[in-house]
Amino acid sequence: MYTQLLQEATAANAALVAVSKRKPNEAIMELYDQGHRDFGENYVQELVDKYEALPKDIRWHFIGTLQRNKVKYIAPFVHLIHGVDSLKLMAEIDKRGQQNGRIIDVLLQVDVTQEDTKHGFTPAQLIETMEQSDIHRLAWARPSGIMGMASHTSDVELLGLEFQQLKDLFETVKKDYYDRRPDWNHLSMGMSGDYQLALKHGSSMLRVGSLLFGKRD
Ligand SMILES: *Cc1c(COP(=O)(O)O)cnc(C)c1O
Repeated sequence: MYTQLLQEATAANAALVAVSKRKPNEAIMELYDQGHRDFGENYVQELVDKYEALPKDIRWHFIGTLQRNKVKYIAPFVHLIHGVDSLKLMAEIDKRGQQNGRIIDVLLQVDVTQEDTKHGFTPAQLIETMEQSDIHRLAWARPSGIMGMASHTSDVELLGLEFQQLKDLFETVKKDYYDRRPDWNHLSMGMSGDYQLALKHGSSMLRVGSLLFGKRD
């Protein structure tokens, strides 16, 4: 499955983040030995444990809900934080980036679903946030795109509309705020169940877990 998925992603110019949450280090090393370096985790303590145990050239993506008081544990090494849903969290990441002397790339989470379980900026809130100067003043937390999740549904038409909405928003922000800067370049969307549709609508980064590692307990 890995080789096929990687080919599909690469053909669409998308990166593949292997979501290894609740999977053992051996499972990660199996993909690592095939050359894979991008892995995604949802829990801070689990991520820190894996970072300490595994090769240091792995690029760790944090894709879960991040509490502000835990940013400090991952700030020294995290490659990309996908789920940033407030300016307050951005400010904390900025502070910890400065302390560690490294710029931390973040993706702003956008919620285009009507589901209560998901969180993130609404599209309107994202535009409002971009209009404020605060977000552009942070030197150590660098917005570099959008992370989105589509509804938990098999309604392909709805999924397509949601992915397209995320893509349009990504392009609008790029045009209006990052025209002359290369930073805004990730559109993280698509998981095991909907990655092909996400690629069709312009995803640049898939987050795939169960399809690669099997079902989680
Ligand atoms: C768990 C998770 C994934 C991967 O989900 P699969 O359906 O197992 O591919 C992707 N993104 C987020 C935010 C997740 O929490």
